Amino acid sequence: MALDKDTLNQFVDSVRRYVRERLVPLEMQVAEEDRIPEEVIDEMKDMGLFGLSIPEEFGGLGLTMSEEVAVVQEMGYTSPVFRSMFGTNVGIGSQGIIIDGTPEQKAHYLPKMARGELIGSFALTEPDAGSDAGSVSTMARRDGDEYVINGTKRYITNAPRAGVFTVMARTGTKEEGGRGVSAFLVDADLPGITLGKPDKKMGQKGSHTCDVIFDNVRVPATALIGGKEGQGFKTAMKVLDRGRLHISALSVGTAKRLIEESVNYSSQRKQFGTEIANFQLVQAMLADSQMEYYAGKCMVEEAARSYDAGEPVSMNASCCKLFCTEMVGRVADRAVQVHGGAGYIGEYCVERFYRDVRLFRLYEGTSQIQQLVIARHLIRNAQNA
Ligand SMILES: Cc1cc2nc3c(=O)[nH]c(=O)nc-3n(C[C@H](O)[C@H](O)[C@H](O)COP(=O)(O)OP(=O)(O)OC[C@H]3O[C@@H](n4cnc5c(N)ncnc54)[C@H](O)[C@@H]3O)c2cc1C
Repeated sequence: MALDKDTLNQFVDSVRRYVRERLVPLEMQVAEEDRIPEEVIDEMKDMGLFGLSIPEEFGGLGLTMSEEVAVVQEMGYTSPVFRSMFGTNVGIGSQGIIIDGTPEQKAHYLPKMARGELIGSFALTEPDAGSDAGSVSTMARRDGDEYVINGTKRYITNAPRAGVFTVMARTGTKEEGGRGVSAFLVDADLPGITLGKPDKKMGQKGSHTCDVIFDNVRVPATALIGGKEGQGFKTAMKVLDRGRLHISALSVGTAKRLIEESVNYSSQRKQFGTEIANFQLVQAMLADSQMEYYAGKCMVEEAARSYDAGEPVSMNASCCKLFCTEMVGRVADRAVQVHGGAGYIGEYCVERFYRDVRLFRLYEGTSQIQQLVIARHLIRNAQNA
């Protein structure tokens, strides 16, 4: 449901103020301690951030895609780990239930997820199944009124805090590929679930991923999302459309921050007797970053409008994900360059952002996978014309 313009503007303003006054000053501490203070997580719950995209009838804010994009751009202005804490509840952890869940599944999980009481994680990737998501080998074998799940999932965001996993597991044969995959809602406290050690990541310190191992985990048949086998891959792809726009908006927000940091630094730092911002070669870096930021912002806002209008959006969501995540990589690289040696030193936030944004090109489909999705749509559309 779309908020009226004033309410949306007020909400976006309050997120902007919270990000700048509360979260930005905490960035360094969170990176050093590799944890977000619990009181900050509680504040984000109180603001409704865990339920941004969850329908109002289940206690969320029910934002449209355009509204979500506006809020997430504001969140992108600070360290992405804050967004990551509620990101799985807003995106991949809850959307499968919202899009394809049964009424009982929605009523059971969504209100707790919207309040942030329950963290939902999305468990698709495996040691031998990453980009080729349809090849997952985690098995869910039907046994009477239950399924028995066996397999290992890898790099699962928020797994150490998760209360429920959306697990993509094979109910059909290997030969069926994605058509043989189903999505299950698996409560994290069930016997047979163990977590691996937290992964040592390049960046995004304060956000945690690890392996999740399922050893003869029994779930009731009602845990199958939508109650129908073989739909899991389709559900995952629908979830990813929205997730890709979300990551695009996040990239745009981070690009804005990096440009502001670069403008501020270059306006103060002096070499050859003048501020480096006066050098046209430095100006070129600033201008290129601003141009690319603006292009990304326009793209994701237009794609979000199209999503809300119910238009087919998969190709454009991939265009946005590919452009915006690569764009913020280039912007971060220029930000380091504008800062010179200081850009390589941990005291300046651009060094941290440079590492943090590297992830955006990898998860929710690598850049190469986005290229494949875009090209496949073009070719299919041409063949059907
Ligand atoms: C910090 C972090 C958090 C994550 N969170 C989650 C999560 O919450 N849930 C989850 O399920 N997963 C998660 N992932 C996993 C992530 O989605 C995968 O890592 C990603 O999809 C890539 O898969 P892979 O690592 O197996 O790489 P691979 O698929 O092995 O790819 C390696 C390289 O080969 C390229 N490649 C692969 N296939 C092709 C092809 N057909 N054509 C051209 N190039 C190709 C890729 O683009 C890449 O460059 C996370 C990963 C990280 C690092």
